[in-house]
Amino acid sequence: MHHLRHIISIIFFKPQIRLATVFALAVLVMFSGCQKEESHSDDDRPFVVTTTNLIRDVVERIGGDDVRVISLMGPGVDPHVYRATPRDFRRMEQADIILYNGLFLEGRLSEILDRQGDNSRAVTGSIPNDRLISATDFGGLYDPHVWFDAELWTYVAEDVRDALSKLLPDKETEFTRRAGEFTKELLELHDYAIHRVQGIPEERRILITAHDAFRYFGHAYDIEVRGLQGLSTASEYGIQDVTRMVSLIIERNIPAIFIETGVSTRAIDSVISGVRNRGYEVRLGGSLFSDSMGPLGTPEGTYAGMFRHNVETIVQALSEELQPS
Ligand SMILES: [Zn+2]
Repeated sequence: MHHLRHIISIIFFKPQIRLATVFALAVLVMFSGCQKEESHSDDDRPFVVTTTNLIRDVVERIGGDDVRVISLMGPGVDPHVYRATPRDFRRMEQADIILYNGLFLEGRLSEILDRQGDNSRAVTGSIPNDRLISATDFGGLYDPHVWFDAELWTYVAEDVRDALSKLLPDKETEFTRRAGEFTKELLELHDYAIHRVQGIPEERRILITAHDAFRYFGHAYDIEVRGLQGLSTASEYGIQDVTRMVSLIIERNIPAIFIETGVSTRAIDSVISGVRNRGYEVRLGGSLFSDSMGPLGTPEGTYAGMFRHNVETIVQALSEELQPS
């Protein structure tokens, strides 16, 4: 008690401390203001939480201004090894619905998401099983990287449309209209990619990356795909994998290989130096978006921009003439 009186007397009688107290209180008020903004208690639109920013993009396209959406993972975040933060848990609690990729893309989060019951929905749920690529070497049953086949992503658009319509039945017509527009754009991107990839000389039509995220891309657009690391970035690669990849590059005369945003470049670097050590040259073809889009406000921060970036990077790097080393 004596202590408290002492503190109060200091606050009131020492001007510099009084100032510090006012400042501290101001910071506290600002901070609680931010917290309030986070929960948007005055915003009565449905609150949608997505795991990846790829799914957030679909919700934005179809939900428009009728919903509020936030993604837990931003640009360059790796979903395979992502751990939820306390803020993520708060957001998931506040969400009217959580939309996630599923197919075990969200490795560590998957269990939490599956446990949410009606409050969460995997947006890949309506893709026919025979369109999914089997893969059992990473914890799931199918390869989760479905967004690289633009046509398959139209199923996700339908799923998001249905989820939003359930949440806000009054807006179903709007959601259906926007989903139709988005689907049309996806199908145009699909045709564009088919034609662009066809322009790469057939013997060089091979895409080598660190983690095996492009199997759907390869299947849809007729390009052979090889990953060093397997489907999940959580899987390890060994010296034999690097040696095998180096031999393949030399045998097939492959001009370029690719790094991915959000994935360590270590694996690809060791392949490039392995090729060099054997007296050959392979270029770095550029950086591809694999499991997340670019930052908001950039062209690559939308599905179309990200998709085009990848296609153009691949086509240009593999079409260039080989230089003798
Ligand atoms: Zn991945």
